[in-house]
Amino acid sequence: MESPRKTTGTVLRFERSSIYDGDGLRTVLFLKGCPLRCLWCSTPESQKFEPERGITHEKCTLCGRCVKACPNGALSIEGGRVKTDREKCAGCFHCVPVCPNSAITPYGTLMTAEEAVREIAKDELFFFHSGGGLTVSGGEPLSQPEFLKEVLAGCRSRGIECAIESSFCAPWEKIEPILPYISLLHTDIKHIDPEKHRKLTGIDNAQILDNIKRADESACSFGIVIRTPLIPGINDEDEDLIKLAEYVRGLKKLRFMEFLAYHRLGTETYKRLEKEYVLDEIQPPDAQFMREKALLFKKAAGVTVKVNNVLIE
Ligand code: SF4
Ligand code: SF4
Repeated sequence: MESPRKTTGTVLRFERSSIYDGDGLRTVLFLKGCPLRCLWCSTPESQKFEPERGITHEKCTLCGRCVKACPNGALSIEGGRVKTDREKCAGCFHCVPVCPNSAITPYGTLMTAEEAVREIAKDELFFFHSGGGLTVSGGEPLSQPEFLKEVLAGCRSRGIECAIESSFCAPWEKIEPILPYISLLHTDIKHIDPEKHRKLTGIDNAQILDNIKRADESACSFGIVIRTPLIPGINDEDEDLIKLAEYVRGLKKLRFMEFLAYHRLGTETYKRLEKEYVLDEIQPPDAQFMREKALLFKKAAGVTVKVNNVLIE
C-alpha cells in the first residue's frame, strides 16, 4: 500500500511544460530555501526558507488596506511608500487578497507531499507523450530532504520519471537516499576555485565537488548534467575553465556539460523583495562569446558540451 506522504514542504511554484530541465516536457517544482547566495541568482524569491511577500511599489496607491489587514504589525506607510518590516512578517499572506491593485506577490506556500504529487500528476498525459516527467528545482531541493524524497517516491510509484536540479551543497546523508528515485541529476559548478566560489556564493565548493564525485561513483543508475552559468568578468577566465574541464573529464555518468548565459530575468524580483542586485552593471554575453568559451572547455575536457541550447558532440 502507498505510504500517506504527509510531510509538509514549502513550495515556491510549479512551472509546466519546460523543455530545458530534462527530457521531454517537464513539470518543474521549485522549492523554497537555499544555503547559497549566488550574486547572480535569478530566483531571489527562492532563497529564504519561509514564505515571504514581494511588493510592486509602482502599482501601490497607498490605500492602507494591507496595513490594516496585517495581524503582525509588519506594514506601515512611511515616506510615501508601504514599508515592510521583514523581521515581523510571518508570511501569512493576509495582506494579499485585500490589495485592490494586485501589488503584493506571495512567494511560497505550504503543502504536503501528497498534494504536490497530485498537482504534478495532472500532467501525466504530457509526460507520457513527450517522454518527460518531474524536475524538482529550487532554491535547493535538498534543503527539504524528507519532502523531496516523498514527492519523488510518490511520482515514481505512479510511473512518473524524476530529475532534480541541485547545487549539491548538502551533506551526503541527505543526498544518498534521493538517488534511487532520479534518472537525471542537474548540478552546478559555479566556479572551480574554492575561494572564488566562496566570494561569489558565500560557501566554498569542497562539499559540492566531493558530492558530485560520490554521486558519480554511486551504484544508482542516473545521468549527470553539470551546468556552469557564465558571467562575463566574474567566472569566465580561460584558466579556470580548463581547471573545470580537468575535474569534469573523469565523470562516468556525465551526459554533457552545459554553459548557461548570464541573464537578468530576476532583477524585477529583487525590486519586489526590496533587495539590492549587486551585478547591475553586468550585461548578458552574446552567443559567440558563449560558443568560444564552450569550445575552449570542450577541447580541454573532451566531453559533449551544450551551449546556446545546442549540443556539441
Ligand atoms: S504576509 Fe502576513 S505578516 Fe507578512 S506583511 Fe502580509 S499580512 Fe503581514
Ligand atoms: S493594499 Fe495594495 S495598494 Fe493598498 S497600500 Fe497595500 S500594497 Fe498599496
